[in-house]
Amino acid sequence: LAKEAGKNRYHLFDPEADRQVQEHRRFLDAIQQALHNNELVLYYQPKVHLRTGQLVGVEALLRWQHPQQGLLSPAHFLPAVDGSPLEQPVGEWVLRTALKQGACWAREGRDVSISVNISADHLLHGSFVSHLQTMLAEHPDMPPARLELEVLETAALADMEQAIAILLRCRELGVQFALDDFGTGYSSLTYLRQLPVDLLKIDQSFIRDILSDPDDRGIVEGIIRLAGACHRSVIGEGVETLEHGAALLQLGCELAQGYGIARPMPAEQLFDWLDQWRHEQPWTRLPQWPAP
Ligand code: C2E
Ligand code: MG
Ligand code: MG
Ligand code: MG
Repeated sequence: LAKEAGKNRYHLFDPEADRQVQEHRRFLDAIQQALHNNELVLYYQPKVHLRTGQLVGVEALLRWQHPQQGLLSPAHFLPAVDGSPLEQPVGEWVLRTALKQGACWAREGRDVSISVNISADHLLHGSFVSHLQTMLAEHPDMPPARLELEVLETAALADMEQAIAILLRCRELGVQFALDDFGTGYSSLTYLRQLPVDLLKIDQSFIRDILSDPDDRGIVEGIIRLAGACHRSVIGEGVETLEHGAALLQLGCELAQGYGIARPMPAEQLFDWLDQWRHEQPWTRLPQWPAP
């Protein structure tokens, strides 16, 4: 059997595999064109404080405004980009665009913190820190402290020592870090203690059924306690209803992000949304448990 498998690896010509390689190449060409034609855009999703309703920042989320297919979400094209030669150019476009937006808001007198998702290879690439430093210098109106980088637990663990070194150097620049999709990876408490991250983002898969599933509720509670014990902030992702928000508040998590607060939106809609959000004050309908 082993011999069979070994033989299969030296398959002479597999038309199906060849077709897939061609297709992948064409798709990457199309994404590269999109980058050149300004078809990539960032949407921004608000992150709020559940007791006060205050906007604490926005997460930049990549979209492809495709001329024929309309607005494409990252699931449609980022898997192809990851691990390809486009990973770094796309990642740098995202960072630069977010910094430009932050600088623009700052000049309008708006203090908006922006979180940017960073892929594993981009973060761990040797020139990440120097490129980040250059980009920050290009946008002097955007204070580095208002930039937060979101990395996946799995990215940080791929090469712990390298990740820690990079995170520490970015921290010296004043930039913050969040661990994204927290709870879906395998980070042990030891890892978490070593990683210089400021914020844990509870993965939305635990929030979804927080009202009906005691296990999920227990996990969320555990993450919130863990964050407290490690002196990290914590935010709940995927808050789709006020009830989700109420459950988070009850468990001691005061920050939230999700469709129940706002969907990701183009930059120019952010302050219209904020006016409406402040006017309606939906957070005042959340039970106000005494602060811990
Ligand atoms: P993520 O960083 O965990 O971002 C949260 C995702 O959940 C976003 O999907 C957001 O639109 C979605 N979301 C927010 N609130 C809710 C909610 O209440 N319910 C549900 N069901 N979903 C909600 P999106 O924009 O499709 O992005 C998916 C993932 O793609 C992101 O997950 C992130 O890992 C990746 N991504 C997005 N933009 C970038 C980028 O610029 N660079 C990199 N490297 N990755 C990105
Ligand atoms: Mg994220
Ligand atoms: Mg996430
Ligand atoms: Mg995710």
